[in-house]
Amino acid sequence: MGRKGYFTVSIHDASPAFSSELREIVGELDSCGTIPKSILTVPNYREQYDILKDQKFLSWLHSLRERGDEIVHHGYSHLAGEGKHTSFYNYLYDRFFAKGSGEFQYLSYREAENRISLSKEIFHGVGIDCQGFVAPAWLMSREAERALVAGGYRYTAFVELFRDYGTGTDVKSEVVRFASRPQLRDYLYRLYDSYLIKIKEKRGELIRVALHPSDVRFGKPFQFALRLIGQLKKERIPVTYLDFARTLA
Ligand SMILES: [Zn+2]
Repeated sequence: MGRKGYFTVSIHDASPAFSSELREIVGELDSCGTIPKSILTVPNYREQYDILKDQKFLSWLHSLRERGDEIVHHGYSHLAGEGKHTSFYNYLYDRFFAKGSGEFQYLSYREAENRISLSKEIFHGVGIDCQGFVAPAWLMSREAERALVAGGYRYTAFVELFRDYGTGTDVKSEVVRFASRPQLRDYLYRLYDSYLIKIKEKRGELIRVALHPSDVRFGKPFQFALRLIGQLKKERIPVTYLDFARTLA
């Protein structure tokens, strides 16, 4: 059919905390035609938004699933612990890049295992068995990753690669994301075109586009994202993360 390679669209931070933004993102994506999405769901955002306690959110989540989207496990509370930085560099990185959301970044095996099992309890209550796990801010300690593998997950993704545990394959693929703080806007606009050029030049097998609830608060980055997705759809096959993992098997 003339299309080479795959692309994924992931929606981060699915939680009742961002219901209206998430609906807006999904609504706009629908206007691009059928795109199976990976819905990165936080079972208990900030330990204040347990998805089990929000029926409206749950029925929305199930409706996405019925349409072919995949529910992906995305942290437990999405909150990084305080005072666990192993170096000043780590502190700076967390402060300015992850912005306090690197929940799995410095966890020990036991801590990670605990958060994974708390999450699984919630997902099981919802009737969803997540095959994949993507850490908040794509950051995860080695110990946390070991706990993930022991927990039976099939794949994960980092900023620069997709990792399939089933086949032991790392697929190099840098995520395209749209930081949308207002002070970054002008910079972003200029960057956007170079993104497109870079992507066209890439012959990689997977391109990953990540959307966050904050993207729709400032219109332009999101419009850029939609344009990019429309363009990718002409050139590549849209898949969920799990679909992509299956292509590797
Ligand atoms: Zn997140």
